[in-house]
Amino acid sequence: MLLYYYVNTTPKIDGRYEVHAIGCVQTPLIKTSSPLGEFASCQEAINAAQLNYPKATGCYYCCKECYTS
Ligand SMILES: [Zn+2]
Repeated sequence: MLLYYYVNTTPKIDGRYEVHAIGCVQTPLIKTSSPLGEFASCQEAINAAQLNYPKATGCYYCCKECYTS
C-alpha cells in the first residue's frame, strides 16, 4: 500500500529532520514541510528525503519501524 510521505523542514534540536506519513498524529505540530510523494515503505521515503536532508529520520509515531533513537 502506498502512503504519502513528507519531511518536516524544521530540524529537531539534534539537527535531524523527521519524515512523516500523511495523517500522523504529529501533523498539527508541523509548521513547515516538504512533500516527498508516495512510497510503499517509510524506508523508501526516508531514502528520498535524505537526498535533500542527509539527516532525515523516521518519526517515532508514524514510521516506527524506521525510527532510530
Ligand atoms: Zn509522524
